[in-house]
Amino acid sequence: MDNLIDGKAVAATVRGEVAERTRRLHDETGVRAGLAVIIVGEDPASQVYVANKHKACEEAGMHSLQVEMPATTTQAELEAKIDEVAADPAIHGMIVQMPLPDHLDTDAALNRIPFEKDADGLTADAMGRLMTLQPGPLPCTPAGVMEMLKAYDVEMRGAHAVVVGRSEIVGKPQAHLLLKEDCTVTICHSRTRDLEGICRQADILVAAVGRPRMLGADHVKDGAVVIDVGINRLEDGLCGDVDFDAVQPKARLITPVPGGVGPMTIAMLLKNTVEAAERSAGR
Ligand code: NDP
Repeated sequence: MDNLIDGKAVAATVRGEVAERTRRLHDETGVRAGLAVIIVGEDPASQVYVANKHKACEEAGMHSLQVEMPATTTQAELEAKIDEVAADPAIHGMIVQMPLPDHLDTDAALNRIPFEKDADGLTADAMGRLMTLQPGPLPCTPAGVMEMLKAYDVEMRGAHAVVVGRSEIVGKPQAHLLLKEDCTVTICHSRTRDLEGICRQADILVAAVGRPRMLGADHVKDGAVVIDVGINRLEDGLCGDVDFDAVQPKARLITPVPGGVGPMTIAMLLKNTVEAAERSAGR
């Protein structure tokens, strides 16, 4: 069936645009956009993500700084490192790779990042700006979803969008981004009554739950656009929060896992970084 949203293709387009903006900024001002990633500890999945970010930066022609800190790092050491990286004029965007080891305070670390250099768009400043419709970095994963909806000309004005999940990094900002595009938005969570019935009203259904194949055919209206943010690691590989095989025949458009939303996240991180570099160069 030809109703797949090709996240790799949309991400490649975004990355191409970012590379072009990075090149132009460098040619015209001498500024090379730079991204720093601070990683604490040796979580294997995080190490893969960080390596991918580094590679993506290089491909986009950006300067990339990787700061590795031991799992025993204290909060004060982490915050001092964040301040040091934030003061580096060669760095325009920075992130602290999540999850941090349990003894560290994630919110305090995140909010130590100055808003101008927040490449993940996850600081309280960035969230406040999103909610008050001021320009600023957008949270990468939900912004990537919006980019996909636009790339596939999905009509958003007046559409009923149902977001399943209310986390700070996906569900909540996703709902605000959809609202900004004039969707009528419903947010569902673990206490929602009649999840199935509410999801079945959705013209656009976004799943960000973290439960393998939880949303099935009975959750989906015929002709809905289904975006699966979920990444679940099972013994036989990755799967999303949507039961893809059951839902694909009913959906007008649907994202696969992998190859859907996943590739968009790094692309949007690079986009936030080049935009921060442009702003710092007075553009
Ligand atoms: P969280 O665990 O922070 O949030 C999950 C949300 O789902 C919560 O709001 C929770 O509700 C809700 N939920 C849990 N169980 C149910 C249920 N039975 N019915 C309805 N709602 C439920 O996860 P994240 O938002 O961080 O991530 C969600 C998924 O997206 C994960 O699979 C994650 O791996 C993936 N992800 C993918 C990214 C990408 O790049 N593609 C990036 C980030 C995340 P409540 O608030 O009530 O507990």
